[in-house]
Parts: sequence; C-alpha cells; structure tokens
Amino acid sequence: MKKTLYLKFILAYFIFGVFGFVITSAFVPNMIKNHLIREKAEVLYSEATLIANTYAGGLYTSETTLETVKNQLDALSIYLSSTIRIINPSGRLVLDTNMRLNVDDVIMVKDFDPTTIQGTYYDVGPYYDAYDGDVINVIAPITSDFKVKGYVVIYSSMTDIEQSAAGLLNISYVILIVLLMLSMIILIFFTEMVYIPLKKITYATEQYASGNMHYEFQVDSEDEIGYLAACLSFMASEIARAEDDQKKFVANVSHDFRSPLTSIRGYLEAMLDGTIPPEMHEKYLTIVLNETQRLTKLTNSLLTLNNLNTKGMMIDKRDFDLNDVVRKTAATFEGTCRSKNMGIELILTGDVLYAHADVDKIQQVLYNLIDNAIKFSHQNTSIRVETSVKKNKIFVSVKDTGIGIPKDDLKMIWERFYKSDSSRGKDKKGTGLGLSIVKEIVKAHGEHINVISTLGVGSEFIFSLQKALKESEED
Ligand code: ADP
Repeated sequence: MKKTLYLKFILAYFIFGVFGFVITSAFVPNMIKNHLIREKAEVLYSEATLIANTYAGGLYTSETTLETVKNQLDALSIYLSSTIRIINPSGRLVLDTNMRLNVDDVIMVKDFDPTTIQGTYYDVGPYYDAYDGDVINVIAPITSDFKVKGYVVIYSSMTDIEQSAAGLLNISYVILIVLLMLSMIILIFFTEMVYIPLKKITYATEQYASGNMHYEFQVDSEDEIGYLAACLSFMASEIARAEDDQKKFVANVSHDFRSPLTSIRGYLEAMLDGTIPPEMHEKYLTIVLNETQRLTKLTNSLLTLNNLNTKGMMIDKRDFDLNDVVRKTAATFEGTCRSKNMGIELILTGDVLYAHADVDKIQQVLYNLIDNAIKFSHQNTSIRVETSVKKNKIFVSVKDTGIGIPKDDLKMIWERFYKSDSSRGKDKKGTGLGLSIVKEIVKAHGEHINVISTLGVGSEFIFSLQKALKESEED
C-alpha cells in the first residue's frame, strides 16, 4: 500500500491516542493516590500534633480529665472521619475514640512500635489490629519536660482516598477523550487545508509531466499551498503558451520559406522545359532573384530575432552621434526613394546629438521603420524623421503620409509574422518580422516605442533613447 501522508498522519493520531491512554492508566492513578494520601496525612499530622500539645498534653499534667479529653477527641474523630488513639510508650491503650472509656481493663496495642514511621510523619499499611485493609496513620509524640509521655495516633481508612482517586482518574479519562476529539479537528483541518490541495497539486504535476500542459485545477486558499498551486498553474500556462508560440513560429517560418521556394521552383522548371521562352528568361530570373533576396532577408531577420531572444540583454551601449546615424541610414534609401519619387525630410536637433545605446541595433531600428514608411507610402510623398530632446531622453519619430494602419491591427503589428491585410498589396516581400525586431531592440534598451496611425492618412512611430552624458559636458 502507498504510504500516503494522510495514512501517516492518521497513524500518528492513533499512536497519540494509545499512548495517551497507556500513560494515563499507568501513571496517573498512582500520582493521584499519592497526592491525596500526602494531603490527608498533612491534615491528620497537624491535628495529631495539635492534640498532643493541647488535650493529650493536659492529660499527662492532670490539667484535664480523661472523660473530657475523650469527649473532645470523639467529636474531632467524627469531624476527621478517623480514629484517634492515645497510647503510652509501653503500648498500653489509654484512649480510643472507637471504644468506650474503660480504665479498669488494660488493653495493650499489639506490636506497637512508634519508631516504624520515624523519618516520615505518616505511614500507609495494615495498622496493627485496627482494620482489615490498609490505613493511613500518623503518630505525634506527647512530650513533657523533654520526655515522651505517650503518643497521639490518628488512623483513617483508605476507602475515602481510593474513592476520590477513582473519581479523579475518571476525570482524567474524560479530559483525554476531549483532547483526542479536539485533536480530531486538527486532522480535519489537515485534510481540508493540506492533504486535499496537495493531492490536487500532485495530480496536476503528473498531468504536466505527461505533457498535458493545458490541464487546469483550482486550489482556493490564500496561504503558501494556494500560492504554490497558483505558481504551478502559471508555470504550466507559460510553458503551454511557449509551446504554442513555438508551433506557430515554426508554421509561419515554414510557410514563409515555402512560398518563395515554390515560385522559384515553378519559374525555373518553366524555363527548363521551355514553357517560358528564352527571350523572357531575364524577366523571370529577376523575379527569382527577388525571391532569393526575400529568403535572405527572412533568414537574416530570423537570426537577428533569435540572437535577441537567446542573448537577452546583449546590448553594447556606447555614446554615438544619433544625427549621423539617422543621416547615414536615410542615405541607404536614396535609390528606393528615387524610384518612387519620394523624399526623406530630416529634422534633427543640433549638429550632433549624442545617444547612449547600441549603435548597430539602433541603426537596424531606424532602417526597419524607414523601410516600412517608404513601403507603405504613396508615390510623390515624403517621410519625415525627427529627433527631439526632453530632459535626459531623446525621442526619434519616423512619420509617413501613407496607407496607415487599421485600428484593430495596431496591437498586432508588433507580433512576429504579422502583416495587416491592407499591407499585402503594397508589400509582397514583407516578412512580418521587422517591427517585432524593432520592439525587441527597444525593449532590450529599457526604452519604449509607440505608434500613432490613422487609416488612409499616415503613421508615426516614436521611440525613446537615453541621452548620453557626453553631450551635456559639451554644452
Ligand atoms: P514587414 O517586414 O512585413 O513590414 P513589419 O513587422 O515591419 O513587417 O510590419 C508589420 C505590419 O505592420 C506590416 O505588414 C504593415 O501591415 C504594418 N505596418 C508597419 N509599418 C507601417 C507603416 N509605416 N504604415 C502602414 N502600415 C505599417
């Protein structure tokens, strides 16, 4: 059988119960009895001493008569529910509250030996000829002129003590049962708050381990166990999401590779089997070349994204002149602009504007944004790249008056492989990776990027950069 935590807990509970009963029945009766005997003995001894010093003492100094003492001791013996005796050192019984006073008869107490209880003030056992069973007895000497004249002996039956002890023992058992029942509450709490949630968590972990990452479970507690369950559930959902992303990513990559490859293959086959006549080859080879360029671009973008993801914050921040980088990047689009009859307007702050960032990566951001701006603009328009400074931040804006982005697409444009439907006609080479690379780079710098766009009017992308201290030194 599986040794579950629950079984162990129940076993511990039973051991606790059994031990409780064993200890209670083995030690408690003796402890109670001894305590009651000691208490009773103390009372009897102090009475015996009192009698020895008062009534009985007076007897030996003839201050009182035997009858008077007998009457007084009779009353006291009823009060103490004991028998009181006065015995001479020789063992002769002078007075016994259980007997009538008879001075003529000489009664000797058999084997009377007061030294038996020397050292302690009381003794428990069969008392001479007095009782059948055990009694508790105390002896106090009656002294006068430093001589022992006699003894006051009080003995009391053990029945009372035994009855009280039995009563107290019963109370102990009742307390033990109540304790066991109360500790049952702990068991119930343990089941509800630890065992059941733990079982749920274990089952969920087994499900996740077997690959069922979409398994859902609920633990409604706000303690550590609830937190553990929530963390586990969150971890599984993150893994599931990563798996889904991975699948989507591979599907997208495959799709984006397959379509140019299919068209390349189609054109090449057509050229080889003569469907495309040799005089048309140049036209179709140009298309093939374009498709290979698209594949190269896709591969490069994938590599860039992969590097950004795996290396995370591998950003080599340095101070550089942002204006210079903007100018150089804009210049690379000269050919494209000329063919579309477009212009790039640069509105730059100062002659030099030092930023503190990874120059290559920022150049890539600018390249992607300007590339998009040109791609999605109409002919004979111009785009505007502007830098501005606010406190220790630089803001770079790339603005076009192109097709704009539909409102519903604005959130999605940052996702990998996303291409809005409206853009497909204008941009056949697009991979849908440009903006996700831009976003990753800006994020890796700890900065932000935003887009403002109106469909049919144009778009503006603005991102922030850290201003270099160097420039302020030069100011
Ligand atoms: P692509 O490489 O295909 O351009 P991006 O990630 O750069 O991919 O862009 C994703 C989508 O965002 C584009 O397909 C387009 O729909 C939209 N988009 C990006 N920039 C602009 C822009 N300046 N004007 C209009 N739409 C844009």
